[in-house]
Amino acid sequence: MDRKQLIVANWKMHKTPAEAAEDAAAIATALGRLPDHSSVALAPPFPALVPVRERLAQTQLLLAAQNVHSEAQGAFTGEVSAPMLKACGCDLIIVGHSERRAMANESDAMVQAKMKAAFQHEMGVILCIGESDSQRNEGQTFKVLDKQVREAVKGLSVTGVNSLVLAYEPIWAIGTGKTASVDQVQEVHAFLRETLADCFQTGLEKDLAKQTEILYGGSVKPSNIKDLMSMKDVDGALVGGASLNPETFVSLIRNGF
Ligand code: PEP
Repeated sequence: MDRKQLIVANWKMHKTPAEAAEDAAAIATALGRLPDHSSVALAPPFPALVPVRERLAQTQLLLAAQNVHSEAQGAFTGEVSAPMLKACGCDLIIVGHSERRAMANESDAMVQAKMKAAFQHEMGVILCIGESDSQRNEGQTFKVLDKQVREAVKGLSVTGVNSLVLAYEPIWAIGTGKTASVDQVQEVHAFLRETLADCFQTGLEKDLAKQTEILYGGSVKPSNIKDLMSMKDVDGALVGGASLNPETFVSLIRNGF
């Protein structure tokens, strides 16, 4: 299989810069050398990016930001741009997390603009998509996901999608302790891969759908990661709560790879 495995810690609004740096160092030391074709990324809050980057130097761990603004600079109080994140040493940016779609009213168009900014500045994107509880109960899951994917990747060039990672995060499973069943996850991931193939219809681009890593997120923990990773179209996980304690996160990674 060409695809890599990737496990990402989303630390949300937790940890001071000193705490994040200490935990990053503890995780990197405990993990040592990662298995081939496997990557781990840490997404601390903005103020911790530089200290965490410093502690990750000489390690294989990647650094991710939790958000980005679509413009490179300007009068956007409180925002952070892609060139700034690049200068902090970010490899990846999480875009379209459901908490941002809900709290900051991020639309699919805004998500797409953020993705373009990340690609322009040579960082990868972890594009989060997912349906709510009511959308699932109304049988809208595939329609919702189809729209989120198509709107986000519309008009992206072949080089632009080279570092696209999808994260399927059903909103009803985030921070709730409810995990989607492995069959539900596999069904959605296979659908997402087909949708991507349909979006990238020609030549080289079509192959990108096969190579795109699709992560699952939503109450992933050390006890369920192995079963999730055993599914054909699950390439990794985006982990919130279970990534906050370094020991728990390290055991989750060991069980997952
Ligand atoms: C997340 O917010 O991306 C997430 C998956 O959170 P949790 O693991 O806590 O459900």
